[in-house]
Amino acid sequence: MTFRELNLKDEILSAIEELGYENPMPVQEKTIPFMLEQTADLVALAQTGTGKTAGFGLPVLHLIDASRKQVQALVLSPTRELCIQIANDLKGYAKNIRGMRIVAVYGGEDIRTQLRQLDTAPQIIVATPGRLIDLIERGKVELGAIDFLVLDEADEMLNMGFKEDIETILERTPDTRRTMLFSATMPKEISMIAKRYMKNYEEITVGTKNAGSENVEHIYYVSQARQRYLVLKRIVDLNPDIYGIVFCRTRQETKEVADKLMHDGYSADALHGDLSQAQRDNVMQKFRIRNIQLLVATDVAARGLDVSDLTHVINYNLPDDVEIYTHRSGRTGRANKKGIAVSIIHSKERFKIKDIERMLRKTFIQEQIPNGLDVCKKQLFFMIDRMEHVEVSEEQIETYMPQIMTQLEYLSKEELLKRFVSLEFNRFLSYYKNAEDLNLPERSERGERGERSVRPGGRVRLKMNVGEREGIDPKRLLGIINDVTGDKSINIGSIEVTNKFTFFDVFADQLDAVVSAFAGQSEVEVSEAKGSKSFEGGGSRKPEYRSRGSYGGGESRGGGYRGGDRSSDRAPRSSAGAGGEKPWRNRDLGDRSSRSSSSEGGERRSSGGSSYKGGSSSYKRR
Ligand code: AMP
Repeated sequence: MTFRELNLKDEILSAIEELGYENPMPVQEKTIPFMLEQTADLVALAQTGTGKTAGFGLPVLHLIDASRKQVQALVLSPTRELCIQIANDLKGYAKNIRGMRIVAVYGGEDIRTQLRQLDTAPQIIVATPGRLIDLIERGKVELGAIDFLVLDEADEMLNMGFKEDIETILERTPDTRRTMLFSATMPKEISMIAKRYMKNYEEITVGTKNAGSENVEHIYYVSQARQRYLVLKRIVDLNPDIYGIVFCRTRQETKEVADKLMHDGYSADALHGDLSQAQRDNVMQKFRIRNIQLLVATDVAARGLDVSDLTHVINYNLPDDVEIYTHRSGRTGRANKKGIAVSIIHSKERFKIKDIERMLRKTFIQEQIPNGLDVCKKQLFFMIDRMEHVEVSEEQIETYMPQIMTQLEYLSKEELLKRFVSLEFNRFLSYYKNAEDLNLPERSERGERGERSVRPGGRVRLKMNVGEREGIDPKRLLGIINDVTGDKSINIGSIEVTNKFTFFDVFADQLDAVVSAFAGQSEVEVSEAKGSKSFEGGGSRKPEYRSRGSYGGGESRGGGYRGGDRSSDRAPRSSAGAGGEKPWRNRDLGDRSSRSSSSEGGERRSSGGSSYKGGSSSYKRR
């Protein structure tokens, strides 16, 4: 199919031809005829990179009247970066349409510039929801003549807490408008918005519902939580030409991982919400032009970044939500290229992998963490390959050749090669010479899978690597568990605090939830207490503190701490908040980084409360 066959206006056809678009992409083949020939609304399941901007942009530009100086189309997008990108794309498509004005309005930038641009009477506004509401309230944007409303990346807008703003905006637009909703995933909330605000809508899907791209291979490595960083380095070293994003849970972790990578000589940088907008733009630009190979980022900060040829997406930690996994992995394997989504997991997170596999209907492959030899071989041959293909500038090197030849005359070809390789490679070889095996020993894998020692009453003993010397007492412990799991149904039994460690009991069916919640953050480690003696009624130290609820040495549920009694003023753990803090320390010690789910990006409102629900073994899905 050609664009001409889609009956678009000549001004649009000439613009897309100048842009080098030859044929419509699948989403465009579906949306353009639908919008031009029918009258219903549209819900499209399509990920970024599928050509959806032209999918809605081209028919909208075709249908609105450039001679009418009113806002006729509104595009809502979750982030400033996406907003700017959409507006630029639309301007490109509209460049031959006389009088067509497109203005982008978004948070995090001086409103006065945007006010001036609005004075030019645009027909199309591309906006982030919060800033648009601000402008509506100031009387600067009038939506009464809107014919087309596009909700782009609707699932992301909901994740970012824009639901109410979107509803407010929808209610301000005329009922006669046509609405197009684009989303990479289709959670319940999106269907509810569609049902409530859209009339007889048609649903189209590009690719499989809720599935990652066909071109993405999903692999995972199982390691101990404390060796995550070393595993990451191995992965990166095994892929010398990697160009990818390393996703972390928190800003703190993002900073730590990026700092370590940079310190260790990798071409990396961090992208997170503590950076100013200018700093974020700068990092994104460096990454886009491939000045850096690895971008270490939080989900929120990476939202605005659209890079289509990533080789890898690395989950330094698994996200709390399958949909976030889908978004992350959908950033690779685009434009018919192969991509790899890698996850580094703790052995107790296997069930999360199973859940994601089920949701995505994909098989994940567990790979062995490469050893030093694998990595060295890969690096060496990468270098040899580069040497083989390097462009030799005869002209520039000619002058020096006679002297070089004379100086190295006595060396054989083999000697020469050895020396050149050593020059580049010695540092690497010595780093990996005695590198340890990071794979979990078979015994420990088996033990963690099956040989759990369940105590009377169905409880399992857990050990936390902090104790009295870090200021832990039972009440603090309960607070930490509350914060990290965000799950009030978790029932804590006997607690024992020693100088260096804290032991506590949980019911066996809640064990995975607790351990995996802690595995997601780097400060405190929780693992099954192997061979620890029971102390209930057995003379070990009895807990000496009581929280608001009760806990104690008894094995009965009645004696155990009841989640529901725990202080209700604690917010559930947000994906942004849990990992980076040191939850066992006092607030008054002042090192508790802000744990709210607020402003990572310019306009972020709330996290949308995505927390892994510890009580069941199902990964959170909407
Ligand atoms: P999007 O999903 O809208 O972000 O688009 C992904 C990329 O595909 C952008 O760089 C677009 O410029 C490009 N693109 C969109 N439509 C076409 C097309 N029909 N042919 C070639 N490239 C396209």
